[in-house]
Amino acid sequence: MEVKKFLHMAGGIGESSYASNSKFQKSILAIRPLLEEAVIEVHKSLLPEKMVVADLGCSSGPNAFLVLTEVMKIIGKQCQQMGVQPPEMQLFLSDLPGNDFNTLFRLLDDFEECMKAEKDASSVLHFVAGLPGSFYGRLFPSQSVHLFHSSNSLHWISQAPEGLDSKTEHVPLNRGNIYIGKTSSSHVVNLYQYQFKRDFTLFLNSRFNELVPGGQMVLAFLGRKEKDQNGPLNSVMEAISKLLNSMVLEGLVEEEKLDSFNMPLYAPSMEEAEAVINAQGLYEIVHIKMTEVNMDTIQGGENVAMSMQSVFGPVILGHFGAGIVDELFSRISKFAAEHLVKEETKVHFLAVCLKKKEQM
Ligand code: SAH
Repeated sequence: MEVKKFLHMAGGIGESSYASNSKFQKSILAIRPLLEEAVIEVHKSLLPEKMVVADLGCSSGPNAFLVLTEVMKIIGKQCQQMGVQPPEMQLFLSDLPGNDFNTLFRLLDDFEECMKAEKDASSVLHFVAGLPGSFYGRLFPSQSVHLFHSSNSLHWISQAPEGLDSKTEHVPLNRGNIYIGKTSSSHVVNLYQYQFKRDFTLFLNSRFNELVPGGQMVLAFLGRKEKDQNGPLNSVMEAISKLLNSMVLEGLVEEEKLDSFNMPLYAPSMEEAEAVINAQGLYEIVHIKMTEVNMDTIQGGENVAMSMQSVFGPVILGHFGAGIVDELFSRISKFAAEHLVKEETKVHFLAVCLKKKEQM
């Protein structure tokens, strides 16, 4: 199951779209201080006449413009304080080709209105462009980007790990699970870890080639505080697996369909992410930290379910077909109201700021 062929958040601006359900992801603004530090540092040290900034995995909701707004405000303020002419800003919004870029581009007018009203940013000349493509590979010419930002995206690996669909004596390797669950073997865990390592290495390599010397990256994605595989993502996926298993028993979902489905996701621990970065030796780690966010940032089980549907819906739809999506998410909604909200489920985000090392 290759992610780039079918992964996208729910498009449009309707009730179940990502645009209407990305409140939770806004909590990612918690990493604003890292973004601010990186923008200021890159600008101050390079004083570029033209500055290229790219948001990778921008999706189709307002969050993409939230990031650009922040970057513009920081640059505008910084240049005023330094008494220098602001650089011309080239701002890229990038995501997979299946992303709803039309909805995104329709939000551009609101962004421009907002920029006009911003005292710090209104004088900064800027150009916004959309760029379809996978961040697990090259997206930009060599040494052409000053700053990369990516939030809520790098936990999507490029594909469900190869080998997960294999069978031992007719028993599928990750039977009954859609991610690393309590009954998953260590082999399943290894396959997920290997896929994450491979993908994250490719991501870091590609960005290294694209960053100008002195360029930086600010990344935030789902992480795992626990050393073992008992994190909140595991619990949430385990809950969805259970709901799907009961739908198998009721004859609503084919068992074979469930057994062959594995989420192309991985939430690494800080040590795992750090090990990949250090093994490459291409970046200086400016910051790396785990932040905790409460799921009840959104109130009510229905909203949690709606938010999950806008994120996971298209992937589930791609594999299981339209027939089960509404029923599954109505069950998730019930489950979320009973458990996730009451139990104050927390999720962890890994926030990382990296600086490109000088080439030897
Ligand atoms: N950055 C936004 C959106 C996050 S949703 C926010 O913080 O709210 C995650 C996005 O990552 C989705 O739009 C998905 O299409 C994108 N994505 C996942 N894998 C990707 C890949 N390999 N290349 C580019 N984008 C990817």
